[in-house]
Amino acid sequence: TRTQDEEDLPHATKKTMADHLRKYESVFTLTPQRMRMIVDAFRETLELGLAKPKQTVPMIPTFVFGWPTGQETGDILAVDLGTSYLPLFAAPLIALLSQFAGGTNLRVCLVTLQGEGKFEITQTKYRLTEEQKQEDGQKLFDFCAECLKTFVDTQLADENSGLKIKEGEKLPLGFTFSYPCSQERIDHGELIRWTKGFGAANTEGQDVAAMFRKSLEKYDLPIELTALINDTTGTLIASHYVNPKTKIAVIFGTGCNAAYMERVGDIPKIKNLGIDDEAAMAINCEWGAFDSFEHEHLPRTKYDAIVDDTSNKPGEQAFEKLISGRYLGEILRLVICELIDEGVLFLGQNTYKLEAPYVFDTAFLSLMESDPTDELLMIIGIFTHFFAVETTLAERQFFRALAKLIGRRAARLSACGIAAIVSKMEYLEEGCLVGADGSLYNKYPGFADRVHEGLVDVFGEKGRNIITHHAEDGSGVGSAIIAAMTKIRKDAGLY
Ligand code: BGC
Ligand code: MG
Repeated sequence: TRTQDEEDLPHATKKTMADHLRKYESVFTLTPQRMRMIVDAFRETLELGLAKPKQTVPMIPTFVFGWPTGQETGDILAVDLGTSYLPLFAAPLIALLSQFAGGTNLRVCLVTLQGEGKFEITQTKYRLTEEQKQEDGQKLFDFCAECLKTFVDTQLADENSGLKIKEGEKLPLGFTFSYPCSQERIDHGELIRWTKGFGAANTEGQDVAAMFRKSLEKYDLPIELTALINDTTGTLIASHYVNPKTKIAVIFGTGCNAAYMERVGDIPKIKNLGIDDEAAMAINCEWGAFDSFEHEHLPRTKYDAIVDDTSNKPGEQAFEKLISGRYLGEILRLVICELIDEGVLFLGQNTYKLEAPYVFDTAFLSLMESDPTDELLMIIGIFTHFFAVETTLAERQFFRALAKLIGRRAARLSACGIAAIVSKMEYLEEGCLVGADGSLYNKYPGFADRVHEGLVDVFGEKGRNIITHHAEDGSGVGSAIIAAMTKIRKDAGLY
């Protein structure tokens, strides 16, 4: 690292980095006025999705009817596919170096619901390979069933757990599948499109619940797939189970999305199903798709356009691509590459390691923002260890400021989504809790505070009535509660 005579080196000086920063500030900053325009368009989009089928933001009726009562009890299995875990967020650099490999896990859980908001959970995680995400879909579900079998054989056979499956009886299973699926029943769901980089063939347009059932049959498991659940819906129900003031759930992780409870009478597109207008049903918004294809409302920079064009799904998930953890590192990397091309950064150094797509993990932004040292030693570590380039202090300060701009924009756009639901449902006066989960929300320094600031920018002081908090485990516990709610309704002849 160069600390002396910085001015003599072919590195950017403090002054020029500050000039460049101003340019990026102007493209990545969202004014309160712009935010309010986004909220208005967003709210209209939500309403359109409720009114008509097959909209870009599909506002999916989930067939999860109302809130849990607390009477839900028993042993329930949950399988969770599509929630990504980035264990390295905010970890010290050494831990980061040794763990450097984020990815998607498959999680199998046994949840024992004890009633009154209490539960116990036993779980095992299985790693998914990049091939499994891209190969044949049925093979992916076969792998899920295989993991479930391993889990059942090892966990349920345990005498100490006291759990026995009686002859002829089946354990209910909640399948958390965190991709947009249009549902006709709770145990059905046609995959609209893969998101978050998945691309398994022969799956889009198919009923993934039926595909998973087929895999379960191959392994002859005493298990019944009771409910197909989105992670946001699970989060909504789980958060409400422990805190009944929760009205909205959001995920800000590898993907982003929200769910809330709607009055059936206010979902015009399902009027002909004969469901009581006064019944409540959870809606999986799939808001990551907001502004897809048309790109009319969101402040897309040229870096965002490149991220989109080079993704496996150009045009899609436009909102998600500005916000979620899968993309933020890539946005920052593209800015760095632009400055390399312009001859501003790393002149005379070999920068090939920075030039490969997606090498700059969002966890790095998180670390850069939280570097507590004056010399920004963690940032030195990132650039030397992972990318083999040396940096000046002025450059490191610039990178940190850039991370802040990109992270802050993501949080403020997230606030716009929450504000759209709050405004549509008129939750502002009485206020509400928003159960939030996902690696960005949980691990990115200051993310929640920035969301709250954003809500005040949109709504003024009343924005403080909307409070996000770390949600309960929706994909495991929430999924199990929903499976239990479904079983209760079925036993009562309601499905
Ligand atoms: C998916 C949603 C999911 C969200 C968070 C998005 O990419 O489309 O179904 O809820 O990611 O996991
Ligand atoms: Mg996620």
